[in-house]
Amino acid sequence: MRVRGNYYAELESEAHSLLAAVGYAGGPVSQQLISNIAEKLGFTLHYVNDLPHSTRSVIDRRNKRIYLGTSLPSRDARAPILRALASLVCRHEEPSSYGEFLRQRVEANYLAGAVLLPELAATALLNEAKKRREISMEDLRDAFGVSYEMAAHRFTNLATTHLDLDVHFMKVHESGTLIKAYENDGVRFPSDALGNLEGAMVCRNWTARTVFSQPDLFNPWYQYTDTSEGGTYWCTSRVEKAKEGQYSVSVGVPFDAVKWFRGRETPHRSRSFCPDERCCRKASDVLTKKWAPSAWPEAATPTSLLAALPTGTFPGVDAHEVYGFLEGHERNSV
Ligand SMILES: [Zn+2]
Repeated sequence: MRVRGNYYAELESEAHSLLAAVGYAGGPVSQQLISNIAEKLGFTLHYVNDLPHSTRSVIDRRNKRIYLGTSLPSRDARAPILRALASLVCRHEEPSSYGEFLRQRVEANYLAGAVLLPELAATALLNEAKKRREISMEDLRDAFGVSYEMAAHRFTNLATTHLDLDVHFMKVHESGTLIKAYENDGVRFPSDALGNLEGAMVCRNWTARTVFSQPDLFNPWYQYTDTSEGGTYWCTSRVEKAKEGQYSVSVGVPFDAVKWFRGRETPHRSRSFCPDERCCRKASDVLTKKWAPSAWPEAATPTSLLAALPTGTFPGVDAHEVYGFLEGHERNSV
């Protein structure tokens, strides 16, 4: 993703063809247009309340049906449908390795973003904003009626190729855990001993974490952060709620590029010395002296370690449950 500037020309062109086939003429992409795309591909959509727990959608290629859960908020049903359709458009077959499984997920997410924030329309809006020095993730989100996370992620697809900007993106859980990350601007993400980014703890002084302590969580938050290794970055961050709690989504750029963004006049500044543990990991000497002899915490075992993932063709998906589900629906439909 970094080598390509997070831009996939072949998926952009697939998205463009899908939209052209249903007569997209600009603005937000409606749920109706998405249904029309499914129809063009020969599939019908079925909302059911017994979708297997381990899935977001299930495609029945035999009967040309796409099953989706009914608990989705209607506005956001577009992205899951598109992710499901992506497997058809990108001709995904059963993944033969975990790497291929991940690549298919990246492509499915990319295609969903590329359809909901079409390249030409989104780039025009961003270039116009750049001219005014008012690039804003909120404006992008509002223009296409998508989530902040989708807008921010889509921005990273277009920023380097079309706006000549190197950027970074992160999604961080309120506990401080890094969930998703992308960069081509040299920012140094935290990682574990094996180099994994996901699950690493993000510096408490970074925008992605300071945003949680703001009194108004649902307004944009801007901050400059001096890092010990890579100079100064400016980031904008926003908190969104999910089932698993709150998480922040952040987009940032090196200091030189901030002139193109709304929020550059922010007075908020912070410094990070991580990975030096004296930055934000180690308790103060005073508190350590006071509490070290008498504190005895019991660690909470991460639930991800307890939940043994079902194994099989699709990691994390229970094939037993999925096949039973398809069998039942096929029987009901004849
Ligand atoms: Zn730190």
